This record gives sequence, structure tokens and C-alpha cells, in this order.
Amino acid sequence: MERKTLFADVILPLPVQGTFTYRVPFDMNDEIQKWHRVVVQFGKKKIYTAIVVNIHEIPPKGYMVKYILSIIDQKPVMNQIQYEFWKWIATYYMCEPGEVMNVAIPSALKLASETRIILNPDFDRSVEGFNDKEYLITEALDIHKKLTLTEVENIVEQKKVIPIIKGLIEKGVVLLEEELQHRYKPKLESFISLVADYSNEAAMQELFSQLEKRAFKQLEILMAWISLSGFGTSTNRQVSRAKLLAKVENGTSALSAMIKKGIFQSEDQIVSRLDSHLASDEVNKIEFTQHQEFALQKIREGFDDASVVLFHGVTSSGKTEIYIKLIQEAIQQGKQVLYLLPEIALTTQIISRLRKFFGNQVGVYHSKYNEQERVEIWNNVMDPENGELGKMFKIILGPRSAVFLPFSNLGLIIVDEEHDHSYKQFDPSPRYHARDAAIYLGSLHKAKILLGTATPSIESYFNAKTGKYKLVELHKRYGDIQMPEIYTADIKKETRYKTMKAHFSNLLMEHMEEALDKKEQVILFQNRRGFSLRLICDTCNWMPECKNCDVTLIYHKHNNQLKCHYCGYSRRVPERCDSCGSTHLTMKGYGTEKVEDDLGILFPKAVIKRMDMDTTRSKFAYQNIINDFENRRIDILVGTQMVTKGLDFDNVSVVGIMNADNMISFPDFRSYERSFQQMAQVSGRAGRKNKQGKVIIQTWNPYQSVIQDVIRNDYQSMYSSQILERRNFNYPPFYRLISLSLKHKDARTLNDGARELAVLLREIFGRKLLGPEYPLVSRIKNLYIKNILIKLERNENLVSNKSLIQKTIDQFRAEAIYKSIRVQVDVDPL
Ligand code: ADP
Ligand code: ZN
Ligand code: ZN
Repeated sequence: MERKTLFADVILPLPVQGTFTYRVPFDMNDEIQKWHRVVVQFGKKKIYTAIVVNIHEIPPKGYMVKYILSIIDQKPVMNQIQYEFWKWIATYYMCEPGEVMNVAIPSALKLASETRIILNPDFDRSVEGFNDKEYLITEALDIHKKLTLTEVENIVEQKKVIPIIKGLIEKGVVLLEEELQHRYKPKLESFISLVADYSNEAAMQELFSQLEKRAFKQLEILMAWISLSGFGTSTNRQVSRAKLLAKVENGTSALSAMIKKGIFQSEDQIVSRLDSHLASDEVNKIEFTQHQEFALQKIREGFDDASVVLFHGVTSSGKTEIYIKLIQEAIQQGKQVLYLLPEIALTTQIISRLRKFFGNQVGVYHSKYNEQERVEIWNNVMDPENGELGKMFKIILGPRSAVFLPFSNLGLIIVDEEHDHSYKQFDPSPRYHARDAAIYLGSLHKAKILLGTATPSIESYFNAKTGKYKLVELHKRYGDIQMPEIYTADIKKETRYKTMKAHFSNLLMEHMEEALDKKEQVILFQNRRGFSLRLICDTCNWMPECKNCDVTLIYHKHNNQLKCHYCGYSRRVPERCDSCGSTHLTMKGYGTEKVEDDLGILFPKAVIKRMDMDTTRSKFAYQNIINDFENRRIDILVGTQMVTKGLDFDNVSVVGIMNADNMISFPDFRSYERSFQQMAQVSGRAGRKNKQGKVIIQTWNPYQSVIQDVIRNDYQSMYSSQILERRNFNYPPFYRLISLSLKHKDARTLNDGARELAVLLREIFGRKLLGPEYPLVSRIKNLYIKNILIKLERNENLVSNKSLIQKTIDQFRAEAIYKSIRVQVDVDPL
């Protein structure tokens, strides 16, 4: 028989252009398949995990093709739809497919030469079943502690080590180094089942009569097992050992005897950490209000005509309950559901609400999960029928990266809090917006997309107003609770009359005292973390700056240091001014930590907690704070924008916005929209359930229109004023922005380069190009930064313009002097 010469196109997890072609060795001809992983060599020595995206017989021209080294999988790790999605992301956001692969798939699925492995400390060495090579690797790990895959290659004297490592990971012998911090231990539980012989009626009778005569304890256990398993009525033939023994006092030895006799068998199983109750008919028990019912109907109708519905419902209007109904409808049709949330802080509450209705069909995917957990979820979504015990995820809840899971059959995508900026990835590339990507993903699956929010982004609202999306509005809170009363505290006046205590106005103090007296809770929002104190010299105005970045350093009290929030550089608080030697140094500004500190003095009896990036680094930190607050173990919660987002608490009567002005005055065309969203969102946390809440906004200028819009809860007014400005000044949604950010360690090279690139681009885009300009922070980690902004009209051909931009950048970078300048492209920057 004639042997075919096959070639495979693969994607490598690297920022390299396009796909690469490798030769398939003859002995792999039958085995090689699309969407399976293979090991290839790329560059001089390095090996990588790549994914096969095409198999053909066309030899590539112009270079010596290398062979595929080995095939890793027996099953596909991704699917065609995902690949289409990756290609779209790469084209739309102007990056390489390999960069998309890099964020899209868990690290454990893309081992490479640089990957380091370590011994799994939980590994039980008494287990047998190693082959020579595996044994060699574990021995070497005993000595060296960690090894790169390149080092492993040398130890076992072969190139194809990735399959061996994959095996060792699966056996739990080794871990990827990055996993050590938060290791995942599967939860094991023993299950007791009847040995097959006893599973028919007659055998059972026989067993009964035997035990009745001689072994009462064993009989008791058998009875307990029967009642727990629902023997005869259900198919559940396994009972947890712990549950069984809880029913029978002192039953341990009797149970062991029965296992010995071969009546029962015991088996350890990995159990899901999730509560194991399955979907119930709870959803059907939700009683919707008339308004909710109406909105639900409108959403369904909207989906008849369009694939995207924007659901604008005020805070606490019961949007989540409506999502739940729609999710049920989608899974009843056998579809998968993706539920996107902007921030992990929110998953804690939503997850328990969803589990109540859908039990183990809900899976969570997020960055605080370790590699093994991520792979587990990946595999489960890929092949839901073969999910582990009780885990067949129909609904995936997650932040933006969840759009990359291997869905095959999405019916509904919910983008909750669609206005939230955390949906945009800033670094590294691809700089994608998960809401917009989800809409494209939905179109690939012919799924429906629901964008939900109390404060729509200008872009989405515009799309709804102009008919691209359907708009559904819900203006009543659930249970007829009123919207909160909003007051402003005039800081200017209070400062003049000396009624301020630290950063607290008298108005805010009075309301807080009243709330605490009544055992009600308070949320305070301050959009800067830490102390946000900057040191300044009274004599010459000198401020200590970072030596790597163009920013002033920020005071951190707990270690009495000044720190850079961009690069982490820190120094001790100086006693004298570096510039003039004066000892008159004062602190200016304040952040969450300072607010927390001051509260401790003003309300010594209150329990005060803080929620910001510094207090929520560990895996369960969010959950703990939120649980404590829900259970009223915290009186005052201080936080950054994390506290503004869709959390649902039922005892918050006062919300304080510490400083509205530093949000509003931020120099960006979106700052007005954003301030409105943040203030309206955090206000929404007040007065849930049984009474109207109060909000106090502290500001130097209570009459600013954005504050007035928040007080009147007037989204329309905010929208109308903003959409006018956007039109007048050529901003989105009328124009699309593409920003180029150039970085280099030498300011002159950067300046020359930026000017040169701008000249080249201006030949194409003329006055649509702005810059180059230094951004607000013009140097980070010793790299100087200059930005160029291109504004394209909404109806201009985006694809051809992008390829023109890319070509120009490539041409620019081909010049030797500018080769070392980094050019980062951000499409639709936020
Ligand atoms: P939103 O997401 O719009 O801010 P939520 O969905 O959190 O609002 O609803 C606010 C509160 O009202 C929640 O505690 C929720 O459980 C409750 N709620 C909403 N709709 C219903 C309903 N139909 N039946 C019972 N409780 C509801
Ligand atoms: Zn710095
Ligand atoms: Zn000085």
C-alpha cells in the first residue's frame, strides 16, 4: 500500500505569526488528528506543545520541514468553533493566534521546554507501577527539587518527554511549579455498595433471614443502607460511608465484617466539592412579580428577532431571578450556558444562588483556581457526558477568560454587569473585551446573548437605541423597595465650618452613627487603595518619586514605607526632603486603608473590614469577607470599586461615597460615564429587602451634573449629555479607537521612533491620527511610553484598516534602529 506523506499545521503558544507546518512521521499517519496536541521543536532546541489545526498533503515551500516529535492526546482538547473564535480574536484585536492560545488554554495543557516540574508533596511513594524513565525522573527530582523539561530530556535521553510528564501529572507524581502555592487536593470519600449477588429480591430475602438470626448490628446496617440508598426505588446504589455510620451507632466493626464477608464493597471516590444536590424544580417555584414577568416576556420576544438583548434593570430589580429562568429554559433544550461576571468577588454570591437551582450542573472557572482544577473544568466542558461523579456542567460561571472554554453547544450567554471595565484584558495581548468577544462567540453557536446591567455602557445603550440590540427595561425594584435617598455632603462648607472629622463629613457621621445604633450595616466606597498618602515637602514641594516609573510613591503604613503601585519599588519614609533638606514633610490624600484606620478611632466599638486588592489576594479572602458581612459580623465595610458591584446584602442602610471628585475629574472621555456607573452601583447596595436606604456623596461641588444625575437616578440624562459629547468630539460609539503604545528604555530612541511611526501612519490616516503623546504615566518599570491614537469612523472598513496599520508597524520595525521599540496595539481601548 502506498504511504501518504502528511503534513500538519499547528498553533504554537507563542507570539509568532500564523500557524506552522510540520511533517507527520509515517508511523503517526493513522493516529494524527485535528485538535489533538502534539510535541514539536521550534527554534534551535526548544520543544513545545502545539495543537493540530489542519492535516494535508501539501509540502511547504522554502524551508526544511521538521517532524512532529510525538502525539500527546487520544482525545481532542479543543474544537472547530473555538478555533474560529481564536481566529476572530486574533484578527479583531490585532494579535497572533499563538497569543490567543496562550490565554485560552490552561498551562497544564501546554507544557514546553521552560516548564518546570516539581514532586507532588502529596504523592504516596509506596505506590508501584513506575517504568524506568518515570523512576529516573522522580529520582532526579529528589535531588534537584525542580527540573525544566529540557533538563528532563537530558535525564531520560530522549526528546519526547511531554507524554511522560503528562502521565506523571495524571498519576499525581509531579506538579507544575506554578501550582505549588495553591494546590488542589481532590476530596476523597468512601462509598458503600452492595456486591452484585445481593441485588435481586430473593438473595436479599436470604440475606435478611441470615442476619436476623445471628447479627443484629449487621442487620441494622443493612436496613440503614437500604433506606439511604432508596434500594428498589431508585438507581442510586451507593451510600457514603460517613452517612451510613452516622445512622448506626457503633457500627464500624460490623460494617467491616460485612465488607469482609463480601456483602458490601467499599470504594474511594473523588467527590465534587460542590454540594451534591442535583437540579430540582426550585426554578418553577419562583413567583415573579408582574414587572418581572413582563420583562421576561420581552426578553424572550427580543430573542425572536435579535441575538442580543440589553436588559437594563435598576439595582435589586431581580435580574438574577430572570436569568435563572432563562438558564433553565436553555438547559432544558439540551444547551450549555455561559454566565460571565466581571469579577471574582461577585461569583461567591451568584454561585450559591445558582447552585440552589441547578446543583452540580454549575461549574466555576476562575483565575484563583489552580491548574488541575482548570483542566478538570476544561475537560468537563469538552466532554460533559463523561464528567466525574455528579459533575456535568451545563452552566459555567466565570470571569472573562471563561469565554475560551471548549463549548460545543452554547444556547445562552449572560453578560452580567456588562458595563464593567474588568471585562477588558489590558495585558498581555490579546487585549480583548469579553462582552464583545462573547457576542461573537454567541454568533458562532447561534446562541442568544443577554447583556444585563443597571447602568449600561454608552456603547451598548447606543446599540440598543439604534436597533442593533433589543432593549428591555425594568425600573421597579423587587418587593417595591424604593430606590435609596441620596444626599450630598458639601466638603467645602464643612471644611470652612470645621465640622469635618478626618475625612468624614458631619452628615456622613450622623447617618453612620444612627445606622450602627440600630445594628444596621454601612458600606464606604473610596476608589483608592492603601493610604494613598503622598509625601510632600512644605518648603519646596518636592515629592518622592519612583526611580523606575514616572509616578509619586504611595505611603503604606503597616511597614512604614513608600511604594510604587506600578513596579513595586519601595523605600523607607525619608526624614528630610531629598531636594532641600527640610524636615517639614506632610502627607496628602487618602485611600481605603486610611479610611479604615480613621474609622477605628471614630467608632471604636464597630467591627470594620476592608475589601480591596491588598486584602483579597488569597483564594478565599473575598468569600470570607462577604460571608462575614452577610452574617452581620462586620458593621462597616470599606472598599474600592469591589464593593460597588452587584452584591446583594439585606441589612445595609447607609452607603457613603468618600470622594466623588477624584473619579469625576479623572482626565478621560469616559470619566463622567464611569463616575455615574460607580456611584449608581454602590448606591444600589443600600436598602435592600425591607427598607429604603440612604446614600451620602461627599464632594466639593454638589451641583455637578453627574452627581445630580445620580441623585435623580436618571440614566437617560447622563446618556443624552454623553452621547452628544461623543458625537462632537469623535469618540465611540461613533468612532472606533485603536491605540498604539510604544515603549523603550531610552527616551530619545522612543521619541524618534514614535515620530517616525506617526509620519508613516499619517500618510494613510491623515487627521484621524493623534499623537504621539506621553500618557498620564509616561514611564513604567524603566520604559518610557508614547501613545498614538487612531480614530476610525464607525462605518469604515475595519479589517483593511487594521491590516494597513499592521503592515506599517511591520515596515517600521524592520528599520534596525527601531527594532528594539515595543509596539503594543490596543483595539477599542478603555
Ligand atoms: P439585581 O440582580 O437586579 O440587582 P437581584 O436579582 O439580586 O437583583 O434581586 C434582589 C433581591 O430580590 C434578591 O435577594 C432576590 O433573591 C430577590 N428577588 C428578586 N426577584 C424575586 C422573586 N421573583 N422571588 C423572590 N425573591 C426575589
Ligand atoms: Zn515604579
Ligand atoms: Zn524640600
